[in-house]
Amino acid sequence: MTDVNERNIRFIFITGGVMSGIGKGVVTASIGKVLQFRGFTVSAVKIDPYLNVDPGTLNPIEHGECFITEDVWDFTPVPGSDERCYKISEIDQDFGTYSRFLGIEMHPSHNITSGQIYLSTILRERKGKFLGKTVQLIPHVTNIIKKRLMEISESENLDVLLIECGGTVGDLESSIFLETFRQIKLENVHRTALVHVTLVPYSRAVGQQKSKPTQHSVRMLQSVGLQPDIIIGRSEKPLADDIKSKISLYSNISEAAVISNPDLDVVYELPLLFEEQGLGDFLCELIDLKAKLVSKPVYSEWVKMVELYKNASKTVRIAMPGKYFNISDSYISINDALEHAAAHQGYRAELKMINISEDTNIEELLRDCDGILLTPGFGERAVEGMIKSAEYAMEDKVPFLGICFGAQLFFAAFCRKYLGLKDANSSEINPDTPYPVVDLLQSQKNVTEKGGSMRLGAHKIIVEKNTKLFNAYNQKEIKERFRHRYHIQERFITEEAKQKGMIVSSRDETGKIINSIELNRDDHWMVGTQFHPEFKSRPYAPSKLYFDFIKACIAKKVGKS
Ligand code: GLN
Repeated sequence: MTDVNERNIRFIFITGGVMSGIGKGVVTASIGKVLQFRGFTVSAVKIDPYLNVDPGTLNPIEHGECFITEDVWDFTPVPGSDERCYKISEIDQDFGTYSRFLGIEMHPSHNITSGQIYLSTILRERKGKFLGKTVQLIPHVTNIIKKRLMEISESENLDVLLIECGGTVGDLESSIFLETFRQIKLENVHRTALVHVTLVPYSRAVGQQKSKPTQHSVRMLQSVGLQPDIIIGRSEKPLADDIKSKISLYSNISEAAVISNPDLDVVYELPLLFEEQGLGDFLCELIDLKAKLVSKPVYSEWVKMVELYKNASKTVRIAMPGKYFNISDSYISINDALEHAAAHQGYRAELKMINISEDTNIEELLRDCDGILLTPGFGERAVEGMIKSAEYAMEDKVPFLGICFGAQLFFAAFCRKYLGLKDANSSEINPDTPYPVVDLLQSQKNVTEKGGSMRLGAHKIIVEKNTKLFNAYNQKEIKERFRHRYHIQERFITEEAKQKGMIVSSRDETGKIINSIELNRDDHWMVGTQFHPEFKSRPYAPSKLYFDFIKACIAKKVGKS
């Protein structure tokens, strides 16, 4: 499989050592940015070695948020056969990071899981594609992985494809992918680089950074036939010189190839830090990319943007009542969208995550906040507390943005409070509610499968004039991304509801699906959207709706003080 040589594409593999969750996604995105500074066309692939076909069925507290793509992909495990296809639009949260840094949209096929690879292998065998052969990890599975990678590189006209492997070197699940990297390296001399991201802990007892864990993980890589070309050391403070030389010596790479990745206040600064350490030129040399010069305007635009985030000194405090708070990444696109919207108004968004349990005194916790963002979600837990949060927002006129589940529960709260519909609820939560004000979408009524079976991807939204939604977007037609089974029921938007201030501010193209609601009040900004504008928010171009939400929160805060 050497045909890639003709296309001149380069591959940069990113692996992780010591432990997971040390920000390989941000490193991958930052390497991409450094190449973009030089005018190269890049994209990224994320490999998730778990056996799920996609992360859509994972609890967000297991693996962080699901990122939703614009397109829904028909994944056919055996192309060209009559085998069924699987809808994929729910992909790894790292794609949010890649999109925010690189400003590009990536197709769902860029998220390769072991589930997809093994499904393809086994179903191919049943279709007789390997007739006469013993089907083995090498070469059959590795060839299927390579084929997936080559399809992307051949169809997208890229200079460089970044390929991040999830998990940590040494995990049983990822070994087949590392083996594939080894083969691609062998077949593409001078066109590949391996970047290994490790943790360099600081020992307080000794007062020193420690290189031993890195040494061990490099050994582990070497034992599967891979030699890192670059090591990125994740640490609290920049790597000390003696640690850099130690890592260089033990890992068999030059000191220039050992790069610091310290804690940063503004994550978007990492590409600049990489550039300062010469990573861009070093990489280009390594993969024989005839070095283009860093484009001054592109680079200084990024510098200016980072400054904007660093200078945002005033704070606006946003409460996020919800239920997936065991890890910090469960709502990462929302957190980032709030941060983007605040920074562009000179503020830092301080997020108060409220993990609702039965004895949470929600009102008490909401009191010191300037705004409430009611989070997306599934299932019964925390729902009553979330409904109470929406009621509190209505009573105290706290600026409020409800996203998906958050919008549905806003509607339930309104129906209970202003229409006297006691126990109004979503039928997802209470199938026996006398008032199912949120109910299954028509298209979902016969769906029994889980995984890729919700209403997914980007859809056209028709916006009503004279609404807060219209004020934000200033467009009659927009496109945002969805991930839901239930929706707000039009029959409960009665004359009385309208009189009490409830309005529908957008619908889908058929007019049958309510896409957003809001309160028709001048003195209170309260909006709920069935869609997720956070997926399209960028550090240099905040989501317009999040921007207006934060604007209302700032106005409330300033008015209070
Ligand atoms: N559980 C709700 C639904 O399926 C909301 C989903 C979400 O918040 N993404 O419609």
